[in-house]
Amino acid sequence: MNQSTRLIFVGLVIFSLLGSILTFVLNRDAPPVAALEIPQSTKDFFKKLSDLGHIKFDFVDSLDVDYFDNDKDYADNFKKVEDDNFIIYYRDKPTEKLRAEKTLEYANQAVPELDRFFGKYHYARDVNNRKLPIYLAVSESDFSKVAEKVGGKAVPWAAGLTFTTFSSDGTKVCDGIVLSSTVQDDGPTDLKTVVYHELAHYNHFHCMNILEKTEYMNWEVEGLASYFAKDWNKKIPEDTKINTLSLTEDPDNYIDSYWMGYHAFGLAEELGCLKGILKNSYSESLIRAIPKNAHCSMSEFDVKWRKHCKEIVLQQ
Ligand SMILES: [Zn+2]
Repeated sequence: MNQSTRLIFVGLVIFSLLGSILTFVLNRDAPPVAALEIPQSTKDFFKKLSDLGHIKFDFVDSLDVDYFDNDKDYADNFKKVEDDNFIIYYRDKPTEKLRAEKTLEYANQAVPELDRFFGKYHYARDVNNRKLPIYLAVSESDFSKVAEKVGGKAVPWAAGLTFTTFSSDGTKVCDGIVLSSTVQDDGPTDLKTVVYHELAHYNHFHCMNILEKTEYMNWEVEGLASYFAKDWNKKIPEDTKINTLSLTEDPDNYIDSYWMGYHAFGLAEELGCLKGILKNSYSESLIRAIPKNAHCSMSEFDVKWRKHCKEIVLQQ
């Protein structure tokens, strides 16, 4: 190799190295490339979540615009009250009409709060003009029947059910929310709180980019809805061995995911990083979104969270 060939060779090596470094630097903070279809692991997570809890998912190949049409809602023997964003279906009784009007009022109260909390509310105009249907069941058997018609099996212990259908390309539609007969103003389960919890699920799933986000946690889903609704799920069972739990994995008992998430988001709010975590979590794992925004490692956040939970137990 003569002098000039050697110089050309060295030049090429340096050029290619600089190219690689530049590519690395440019891609380091680039968002993940979205898949063209929902990954199987994501479908598996949502199917398992459907089996465990009160939020139900279905997957179809595609969702055409007809699927969003409220004229195709299940409405047999129902009356309705509606506005620009919601339709409340209720059975024909004076007390149920009052309950429906209250439900509509609470749903509208929740909208600006959801918009602030999640950074965006999904109005009817954002979802092919579909008004969100909320069904009020009047008995246990009515709850099961309406659930079957709207999207699938009811869960006997649930106060509310939220049914969502995803198409392979990531489009989604809320088939409806069904509330059990126990959900009443001053009832065994409080109407306003349950409306807030179910609407949080509706809006959260609509904020998520499920073609980009590949890792999900049960505590993220239930904790967030409970935290937004400020509901009863914050109670930490007294015999809980907090030291054995970590936010990096879901608990064995699904019910624990409610309070675990509730207090993880509560801690994030105390630390002033809740909004940033939420924004990032729509397209990536919480395990990555938390350290980015809390300015500490996930294991350090875990330590803070366990300490926070122990303080909560003392206050209960
Ligand atoms: Zn829930």
